[in-house]
Amino acid sequence: MTLPPDAFLTDAKALLGPKGWSEDEDKLKEAASPWRGTWPGKTPFLAMPASTQDAAGLVKLCAEHRVALVPQGGNTGLVDGGTPHGEITVSMRRMTSVRGLDKRNNSLTIEAGAPLVDAQSAADEANRLFPLSLGSEGQATIGGLISTNAGGVAVLRYGMMRDLVLGLEVVLPSGEIWDGLSGLRKNNTGYDLKHLFAGAEGTLGLITAATLKLFPKVAKATGWVICKSSSDVVDLLALTRDHAGDTVTSFEIIPANAIEMVKVDVPDTRDPAPSPLPWRVLVEVSMAREDQARETLMAALADAMEKGLAENAIIAETVSQADSFWHIRETIPLSKRAYGTAVNHDVSVPVSAIPDFLDAAETEIHKVVSAAEIVAFGHVGDGNLHYSACEPKAASKPILASHADEITRIVHDQAMRFGGSISAEHGVGRLKRDELARIRPQAATDTMRAIKMALDPLGIMNPGRVVSV
Ligand SMILES: Cc1cc2nc3c(=O)[nH]c(=O)nc-3n(C[C@H](O)[C@H](O)[C@H](O)COP(=O)(O)OP(=O)(O)OC[C@H]3O[C@@H](n4cnc5c(N)ncnc54)[C@H](O)[C@@H]3O)c2cc1C
Repeated sequence: MTLPPDAFLTDAKALLGPKGWSEDEDKLKEAASPWRGTWPGKTPFLAMPASTQDAAGLVKLCAEHRVALVPQGGNTGLVDGGTPHGEITVSMRRMTSVRGLDKRNNSLTIEAGAPLVDAQSAADEANRLFPLSLGSEGQATIGGLISTNAGGVAVLRYGMMRDLVLGLEVVLPSGEIWDGLSGLRKNNTGYDLKHLFAGAEGTLGLITAATLKLFPKVAKATGWVICKSSSDVVDLLALTRDHAGDTVTSFEIIPANAIEMVKVDVPDTRDPAPSPLPWRVLVEVSMAREDQARETLMAALADAMEKGLAENAIIAETVSQADSFWHIRETIPLSKRAYGTAVNHDVSVPVSAIPDFLDAAETEIHKVVSAAEIVAFGHVGDGNLHYSACEPKAASKPILASHADEITRIVHDQAMRFGGSISAEHGVGRLKRDELARIRPQAATDTMRAIKMALDPLGIMNPGRVVSV
């Protein structure tokens, strides 16, 4: 790890003030430790700016002294994008203020270091909804969510994080501030710069604040449905939308073996409707009134059972019953880890191709590790599966890890074969950079490189993530 020059450190410390930096070993270690404990990194200096001006001053110093920096929010990213590997870390967690909420314009301006729950609460207090929702919402920050263009469980209705951003404030790699905060929904004035920074994973600039879209609050009805095939699951989605239109907010697929894993990991977990059939769907319909949502979902599920697309279905009677359905869904990633080695992927294919993708990927993986346990769960309504191959139950010694690369190649190739993506919602980071360079059309990689070089010619802003230059 190359240490930043003394002149940089002296100026940075003076600029940021005593609370704005740390060289404490424990704090540096924490900044370099991602949520999953995988890819632990290292960092020589932790900067914690408290204002956009301080952040801009710091980036200017980085440019002057050619010091590479990693923007960091909650460090919950899953692709090794926000963990430093020798660079200094710029933590945004001191910039958490709500700068304004315009109820009549349905917009909220909030600083980048605020955790997602803060945006949800600010909206809720104003009788509005900020709809992004995901398992890491207590830690993941607005800046990190925008930078990874996060998805979550309400994309079907509200879109991904990019779709929820009206304006941004960004410190460019030169240290200049771009003030693009705006509550406008219509603004056709050339290149839409906010979309350049959304999904850029901190490689083009440091996001310091955002103006976000708010929506009317809704009441929900939550269903748990048993299906006999993935093909029925896809048809159930279409039928539910025939009944409920775009009020279908969430449509998550859960395989029966994932419920068994959750039950082993969290023994008091109750399967809402035990069945030998292989698939469950967690479906949510959101409308202005709860009785409307329930009636609509009930009619859809009754129709599905009559048509043979669902074997059984339950609609949650209480909020705590709905929460218990969601708890199973949200616990799968952790339970999978407790179960043993899992080779994980975040892929998407067109919704209609889900059944064929599942069949093809499983067949090919079983040619390599015949008893590998496949756990495919997640946002099936968006065509997005968190697809894992797990250690066979009967294996006397671990066999999966030695085949991990081969399995990943199979899953990615099958996703591409069906017109999909190898990173549906988690981003690229360092983890998928080279694999994407293999898969992506050369013209796309060249264009990304050109954009990176134009904005960050010194290569100081989160170098080595997304695209190599
Ligand atoms: C339990 C769990 C569940 C999850 N569920 C989902 C899910 O359902 N859907 C989904 O899409 N993702 C999910 N994720 C991953 C999700 O991508 C991250 O939680 C989140 O988007 C990253 O936010 P963060 O603040 O932690 O960013 P970090 O991890 O700190 O950083 C992520 C990337 O953004 C950059 N960055 C961070 N802040 C800024 C900033 N202010 N300016 C510029 N760049 C910045 C970093 O450099 C890095 O490249 C989940 C993660 C966990 C741990």
